[in-house]
Amino acid sequence: PVRVRMAPSPTGSPHVGLARTALFNWAFARHHGGTFVFRIEDTDKERNTQESYDSLIDLMGWLGLKWDEGVVVGGPYGPYKQSERTDIYVDVLAKLRDSSYTYDCYCTTEEATERRKAAGSKVMGYDGFCRELSDEQRTAFEAEGRKPVVRFRMPDGEIAFNDLVRGEISFKTEFVPDFALCRANGDPLYTLTAPVDDATMEITHVLRGEDLLSSTPRQIALFDALKEIGVASQTPEFGHLPYVMGEGNKKLSKRDPQAHMALYREQGFLPEGLLNYLALLGWAIAADRDVFTLEELVEKFDLADVNPNPARFDLKKAEAINADHMRMLTLDDLTHRVLPFLKEAGVVSDPVSDADAKLLELAMPLVAERMNKLTESVDMLAFLFADEASFVRDEADVAKVLNEDGLAVVRAALEGLEALGTWSTAAIEETLRAKLVEELGLKPRNAFGPVRVAISGRKVSPPLFESMELLGKERSLTRLRDVLA
Ligand code: GLU
Repeated sequence: PVRVRMAPSPTGSPHVGLARTALFNWAFARHHGGTFVFRIEDTDKERNTQESYDSLIDLMGWLGLKWDEGVVVGGPYGPYKQSERTDIYVDVLAKLRDSSYTYDCYCTTEEATERRKAAGSKVMGYDGFCRELSDEQRTAFEAEGRKPVVRFRMPDGEIAFNDLVRGEISFKTEFVPDFALCRANGDPLYTLTAPVDDATMEITHVLRGEDLLSSTPRQIALFDALKEIGVASQTPEFGHLPYVMGEGNKKLSKRDPQAHMALYREQGFLPEGLLNYLALLGWAIAADRDVFTLEELVEKFDLADVNPNPARFDLKKAEAINADHMRMLTLDDLTHRVLPFLKEAGVVSDPVSDADAKLLELAMPLVAERMNKLTESVDMLAFLFADEASFVRDEADVAKVLNEDGLAVVRAALEGLEALGTWSTAAIEETLRAKLVEELGLKPRNAFGPVRVAISGRKVSPPLFESMELLGKERSLTRLRDVLA
């Protein structure tokens, strides 16, 4: 059975690359009827924050990528936070030492670098100096007060594996120096904890970013040792997902504002729209298709179709795909989703009053097809809910449209509408056409533009006549009179 995991470290704010990794693991697990595990790699005490952990959980919940095992939900291979698994690592480390897969190393990084330089070595990193330490040397180091780290003895030769995205890859181990498994104070390092967790959690496929490719030969070598000492039953398969490039064709970094997932939620992306876009960072459902549902993604997802070349992050495209998903929602669903944004902005009352709920139900059909993001509902709908005292018009639009000519148009519109008996969309339209287009001979755009700014406060608004019907006669006339005053 397929078992995959995402294993973020709770540092900083969750970024796009992480969400893409989560999505691909999730889709792979769902496609194969497997298990998706969510583990937290929090061994770096200095860099971890509770805030970062909370936002990871929050974000995964928002995205709707449900994990089957892991933090929060638990499971048979727990605990799922590395900080709670120290006993396991200490135990495995002792076993590795007993079987001579490791050695104690007393050197500082500087000493190793100096020796490498002196020897004219092309390889950097640890040089294996402490591999065969005599008892006297060891005693001498201890006498200097040095504390050893435990280093893994890399085997000689070559480590080859079939990357599920990139195909055959091999590393000559002379270029992969012996690496530390724990700090001198005994704290286990990622180099130990990740493979030990993958082994003990029986992970079958490790799908992660390309930035971790260089750690794979070390992890495979360590897996061989873990199998020998009975900690691992198999080495997982590995697949490295392509880099995500941002502006200027540089790797998307934490400094890029668009790298942060929180932004998309704040800006009113739909999770399914964003996930659809994230899937395209390395994968395609078909050459001629960009928009698909999560169900389709799960059905079609195949690592063989993941492109190893760097993927370019394109915000415009993300927005366009989100817009398509907005159109796929039912009115009810869309209403439900814009509500938090409308409450937050104070457009509707919180909790929503019956009157606001009723008006929203009538207004949503007018704007549903026009929104590309949920946040746009605020600007589009605010004028319908605003009371006359707090209603404000866009200054620039007022200056541009409600000039002398514009005000004359509003005056004529007011005249016609004051006399109107039935306040309906059709009657409003008929009256304004008769008054402004026929009588005054204006082009529709020049006729309705000034009325639109007076009523909605903006040059661009939901359909004007419908909006006026919803606003009601009294409020509509008040707004027209207001700009004339
Ligand atoms: N904790 C690692 C990170 O956040 C992921 C390690 C892995 O996937 O193997 O980059």
